[in-house]
Amino acid sequence: MTAALFAAKSGKKVRLIDGNEQVGRKLLVTGSGRANLTNQHMNASHYTCADAAWMDTLLKRFGHTDLIDFFHEIGVLTFSTSDGWCYPVSESAQTVVEAFACALHLAGIELVLNTKVTTIDKTKEGFNLDLSTGATISANRLIVAAGGKAYPTLGSRGELFASIKNLGHSITPLVPALAPVTCEMKPWSKLTGLRFDTRVSLYESNTLLAETTGNLILTEWGLNGPAVMDLSHHISTRPNAKLELILNPLFNSEGELRDLIARKHGTATPLRVILGSVLPPKLPPVLIARAGYPVDVLINELNNGQTDKVLKSAAAMPFKVTGVRGFEYCQVCAGGVPVSEVDPMNMRSRLVPGLTLVGETLDVVGPCGGYNLQFAFSSGAVAGMEINNPPK
Ligand SMILES: Cc1cc2nc3c(=O)[nH]c(=O)nc-3n(C[C@H](O)[C@H](O)[C@H](O)COP(=O)(O)OP(=O)(O)OC[C@H]3O[C@@H](n4cnc5c(N)ncnc54)[C@H](O)[C@@H]3O)c2cc1C
Repeated sequence: MTAALFAAKSGKKVRLIDGNEQVGRKLLVTGSGRANLTNQHMNASHYTCADAAWMDTLLKRFGHTDLIDFFHEIGVLTFSTSDGWCYPVSESAQTVVEAFACALHLAGIELVLNTKVTTIDKTKEGFNLDLSTGATISANRLIVAAGGKAYPTLGSRGELFASIKNLGHSITPLVPALAPVTCEMKPWSKLTGLRFDTRVSLYESNTLLAETTGNLILTEWGLNGPAVMDLSHHISTRPNAKLELILNPLFNSEGELRDLIARKHGTATPLRVILGSVLPPKLPPVLIARAGYPVDVLINELNNGQTDKVLKSAAAMPFKVTGVRGFEYCQVCAGGVPVSEVDPMNMRSRLVPGLTLVGETLDVVGPCGGYNLQFAFSSGAVAGMEINNPPK
């Protein structure tokens, strides 16, 4: 939609083809229906992208403030939470989709909905697109914004990767990202349903692969929430590795907790009450039991070494990883067309004249927090505004 709007602005006659019955179907469900559109801390370093300089170039062409200005232009006002996540003031993704639909209409863009592109063929003048309606249409320029394979019920099923490959591009393996992580949960069954903020470290043997801090929830099958979703592409790209997640819910409170323990030393205070000063109430009994002590043990019944053992186990809760949930449950698809095959100054293919590739079709993953929509909007905007310029 962004690509179409900017292309129309640059004077092109634009047709937007989408397999869905309405535009912006996926946008509608983002941010749990609130649309986390971008992030105030937008920076190339937050993305998993083979070339950070590539992402930096794109964000310099069209970054966070450009996007906020663009939203104002189409009638979407935004605000940011204290941690920088940006949402529409309406807190409704529907108002954003309606603003896009209205802008597309006013720009005179022809919508071809409920229609799938089945194959793309290169011709001398441009491209022929075979459609699911049986029709074939031609275009001298083509922007592919077909997404990846995440959440197929919302329209993106990766169906155009075969055509993109036939045109000459490579496709890195497509795997779920920003996905819930499945783990052996038996040792933690008493904590099902518990949600808390924690540091999460992902290890392969003793090697730290990645680390995040954020919110997560324990379920019967594994861990869900931003803190683990941001690590999931490291897991889905290592299908045979022995991986472990270590949770540290004391990541920002251990010093304070140790001071409190020192003050309460020698009193008949239950350790679980002291741990409860910084942890949700379900956690302390489980952590004390795992360290090998009765859940109601008093602080004056433990020596320093024993309280230290409880704190160490509380600061390193291990979860054996068994995998990630599939494309049906993930927010983003990792893999796709390598960024090295696309010019970030205009999003044009470096291999196929006339072809432009944007959004999740490319091998880029951002963390939770508005980074993936920003990438889709940035790459779309640059693609559209450059569509009329002669190749450099
Ligand atoms: C549940 C959920 C919540 C999310 N929340 C957020 C969030 O709050 N913030 C954030 O930054 N990111 C979020 N994301 C990720 C974000 O939605 C995506 O990164 C973004 O939508 C990618 O945009 P895109 O245009 O590249 O692809 P898509 O949004 O997937 O759009 C691709 C479009 O192409 C169409 N299409 C595909 N193939 C064909 C074909 N062959 N013919 C015709 N049309 C076709 C599809 O119907 C679809 O409309 C979320 C994702 C999900 C699934």
